[in-house]
Amino acid sequence: MVIKSVNLETVCGITSTFPDNVNIEIAFAGKSNVGKSSLINALMNRKSYARISAEPGKTQTINFYNINDEFYMVDLPGYGYAKANEEVKAKWGKMIERYLHQSIKLRAVFLLIDIRHTPSENDRLMYDWVLSNGYKPIIIATKLDKINRSQIQKNVKIVKEGLGVDKDTIVIPFSSETKQGKEEVYQIMDELLKEEKLMEEELREEEAREEAEEEELQNDEFR
Ligand code: GDP
Repeated sequence: MVIKSVNLETVCGITSTFPDNVNIEIAFAGKSNVGKSSLINALMNRKSYARISAEPGKTQTINFYNINDEFYMVDLPGYGYAKANEEVKAKWGKMIERYLHQSIKLRAVFLLIDIRHTPSENDRLMYDWVLSNGYKPIIIATKLDKINRSQIQKNVKIVKEGLGVDKDTIVIPFSSETKQGKEEVYQIMDELLKEEKLMEEELREEEAREEAEEEELQNDEFR
């Protein structure tokens, strides 16, 4: 993955209609303060394009970053900010759910979990939402630099068990300080783009075949 261009193309609020994108979307979800903006900035090779929240929980929008005119990184609002009132929390939840449900171009959801902590009730809820919408979340265990090397395996296990993931769920330990884990995330994105290209090619071939058959039929009628 080479980042050539980055553009915050669409910002959606609670009542917005989501964009009808042609390119695929890859979404990022996580509790507020988990390090989502830092991860997105690291992936975009930018210092502060995605907002790093001085005030956690401020992000109430879904932001669509156009990457290379090839795909979108979709920044979902951080959930579970303790100081937000219940009504506001419910609205964020509904917006995230509506996006997961409605997006046609969404191909993968990365769910961010702090590697130091057992997943919260909201983390589990989010994991289940993503699953029930037909996506298998890819887990990014953030703030890797804050634990010792010797703790990594144990903490990854706690994250996995806390979410109740199945055996083949991918968990990528990541640090926005050291950028460890970045290449693994890029690799998944590359694979998703490759799969999409293959699918589009197959679709085009099928359309061409159908067109040829149609033409053949019409020619037969003339004979
Ligand atoms: P968001 O609310 O999920 O977007 O979280 P932010 O990206 O704004 O990060 C919240 C806080 O955690 C900020 O003070 C970041 O500097 C810090 N942070 C984020 N990622 C990392 C990381 O990988 N390592 C360390 N040490 N701090 C991080």
